[in-house]
Amino acid sequence: MTHLYADPVFEEHQTPPGHPECPARARTVLKALSTCEAISASHPGIRPSEETSSALRLVHDPDYVASIEEAAAAGGRSLDSDTHVSARSYEVACRATATLLGATAAALAAPSESSARQAFVVVRPPGHHARPARGMGFCLFNHVAVAAAVARQGGLERVTVLDFDVHHGNGTQEMFWREGGVQYVSLHGRGYYPGTGAADETGEADGLGRTINVPLPSETAPGEYQAAFASALDRVVSFEPELILVSAGFDAYVEDPVGGLGLAAEDFHWIGCELRAAADAACGGRLVSVLEGGYDLEALGGLAQAYVEGQASSK
Ligand SMILES: [Zn+2]
Repeated sequence: MTHLYADPVFEEHQTPPGHPECPARARTVLKALSTCEAISASHPGIRPSEETSSALRLVHDPDYVASIEEAAAAGGRSLDSDTHVSARSYEVACRATATLLGATAAALAAPSESSARQAFVVVRPPGHHARPARGMGFCLFNHVAVAAAVARQGGLERVTVLDFDVHHGNGTQEMFWREGGVQYVSLHGRGYYPGTGAADETGEADGLGRTINVPLPSETAPGEYQAAFASALDRVVSFEPELILVSAGFDAYVEDPVGGLGLAAEDFHWIGCELRAAADAACGGRLVSVLEGGYDLEALGGLAQAYVEGQASSK
C-alpha cells in the first residue's frame, strides 16, 4: 500500500499550447489513482516554508533560485525552447519540492509496518534535468535531488536515487557526482535527450562508482529491460541504502510521444513490484517516488496506477 501526495495546484504551472508537459498530465494521474485500491491514504500538496528555501539551495545556486522567482514575478519567461516559467511556476515548483520533502520525512518517521513508508508524489513541473544553476528539459527545480540532499543532511549515510524515466537525469547525476553518500542509478534510452548517461560516467572522488548508468538501445525488448533493471537493483541492494527515492517517469512506455522504449503497463507493474522488494530488502520498505516524465495522456494514468499496484503486490 502507498500514500499518495497530489494536488490540483500542480496544474497551475503553465506551458505553451501543444507542449507535452501540460497540466492535464497531473490531472490524469490523479484521476486514475483516486480510485486505486493500492492507495491507503491521500495527502494534499505541502506549502513551502523557509526550510524549503534552504533545502533548494543545498543543490541549486541561490542566484538561480532567485532568477526563477523573479521570472515568475515578472509574469513568466522561457529558459530555452522546451522549458518555461509561468507566473505561478515558482510557487508551484517550490510546492512540488516541499511536498516531496514532506512525503520523505513521513516515510522516514513511519514505523516499520506503516504504509507511509511508501509514497507516490504526483507533481509538476518535473525535476531530474534541472542542473545546479540551469533549468532545462521541462524542469526548474530538482525535487528528487533536494530530497536526497536533505535526507543526507538529516543524518542518513546512504541514499539511493533510482531513475527509470526514459531520459537520463543529468541534473541529479551532476549534483551527486562527487558525493559518496548518494547512489544515482539511471536506466534510460541511449542517445535520447539530453545525451548524457553513458555507462562510463560513474562519478568522481568520493562519488566514484556511485553513479550507475544503464543506457539501453531504442529496440530493447521488455525482457531485456527487465534483466537490466534487475541487475541494477542488485547494485542498489548491495549499497545498503537507508532510503530509496525514485524518479518515476513513464515515458519508456511504447507509445510515448517524447520517449518510448517498448514498455507496457505490465512492465511498470513489474518495476513497482521489484522496487518494493528491493526497498524491503535494503531499507525496511522506505520507497518514495516522484513523478518525472510520461507524456501519453491516454495511457499515463494507467501506467502510474500499474506502478503503484505493483508496489502493493510485492511479496
Ligand atoms: Zn523523460
